Amino acid sequence: MTATAPFVELEKTPLERYVPPAKPSLVGLSRAALAEALLGIGVKPAQTKMRVQQIWHWMYVRGVQSFDEMTSVSKELRATLDTHFTLARPEVVAEQISVDGTRKWLLRLPGEHEGERPHEVECVYIPETDRGTLCVSSQVGCTLTCAFCHTGTQRLVRNLTPTEIVGQIMIARDRLSDWAKEPSTDGVRLVSNIVMMGMGEPLYNFDAVRDALLVVADGDGLSISRRRITLSTSGVVPNIERAGAEIGVMLAISLHAVRDELRNELVPLNRKYPIAQLLEACRNYPGLSNARRITFEYVMLKGVNDSLEDARSLVRLLKGIPAKINLIPFNPWPGSRYECSDWDQIEKFSEVVFNAGYASPVRTPRGRDILAACGQLKSATEKLSARERMALRAMAMTD
Ligand code: SAH
Ligand code: SF4
Repeated sequence: MTATAPFVELEKTPLERYVPPAKPSLVGLSRAALAEALLGIGVKPAQTKMRVQQIWHWMYVRGVQSFDEMTSVSKELRATLDTHFTLARPEVVAEQISVDGTRKWLLRLPGEHEGERPHEVECVYIPETDRGTLCVSSQVGCTLTCAFCHTGTQRLVRNLTPTEIVGQIMIARDRLSDWAKEPSTDGVRLVSNIVMMGMGEPLYNFDAVRDALLVVADGDGLSISRRRITLSTSGVVPNIERAGAEIGVMLAISLHAVRDELRNELVPLNRKYPIAQLLEACRNYPGLSNARRITFEYVMLKGVNDSLEDARSLVRLLKGIPAKINLIPFNPWPGSRYECSDWDQIEKFSEVVFNAGYASPVRTPRGRDILAACGQLKSATEKLSARERMALRAMAMTD
């Protein structure tokens, strides 16, 4: 008789078992919150302003990842900082680099509650001759359910914190060696523009997005000016006004349809805030001029919103608003119910828009070989046809 070997369960640590960092990161704190944190570890009130200034510089101009590198800060304070805090960015779990220089990072974020699985969001960098644009996520998933959007099929898991939003820009600068080598804050940076067009609806994570963007725009730090930051929204009307008053960045509106009936279907939030209300909020957005226009995004869906009548209605609708129009080739995903418009239809549509005075409205898809459109990294292993690849959505949205 042979004894039955006891069944021993193999001990595994699945990737899902993520251990969130024990110490909080200082990344993404406002100057006021940073001052509070310093007071909390015993920095004298009379010194906090100077210390905030020093730490801010090391974090956001020099990009240091350890307190030890902050050589203008006393050794003693560096050690105290290290006991209580980190300078950690979100964890990068995958990096892909396209032949055209586009880079994509998959980031892992801790779950909100203990024991919860970690989450993943993505961040994409698109280099161009005169700028480099980083597409940043604001939420894990999205509460909204736009019919053509892959993120819309995912349950919202949670809002990103300012640390996680600012952390995406820090990661891009880390990976691209895009920090100032000298104390001087001058010099051209690879990451020059930010678009809040990754996962999530930024205006439904208003406070964190505002706090993060104010850190990003700070002229003594990451120093990406408000004119070079574009926030894209599906149309959360009350928060458009708040964004104008409290953040002051450039605005992009995911319009996608010129009639309420169709927009109700494509962007269900339209039932709450219909087109007329949305455009009224746009007209009232502060600081608009020919040099500061609102970008209207319009995803090209075959046989759905791509008729020339739609194009004519679009230019009529936007009359009087300083506007740019971005026609986005629809980027299909497994299970999506739409197709991208044919290229000659996109061209005809864009001609109507062009003749109405809007320049170069169709963006060239970038990073095709790594599927660099936001929302696509996780499905990067799916095999796409040449046509689908061609339809990859344009990413560089700012002028
Ligand atoms: N939630 C915000 C920002 C993130 S989406 C918003 O909706 O504006 C960024 C842009 O990508 C939006 O214009 C969105 O409508 C568009 N988009 C989403 N899925 C797409 C797809 N499959 N193909 C092309 N564009 C898409
Ligand atoms: Fe959310 Fe924007 Fe996708 Fe709509 S298009 S589901 S608002 S991420």
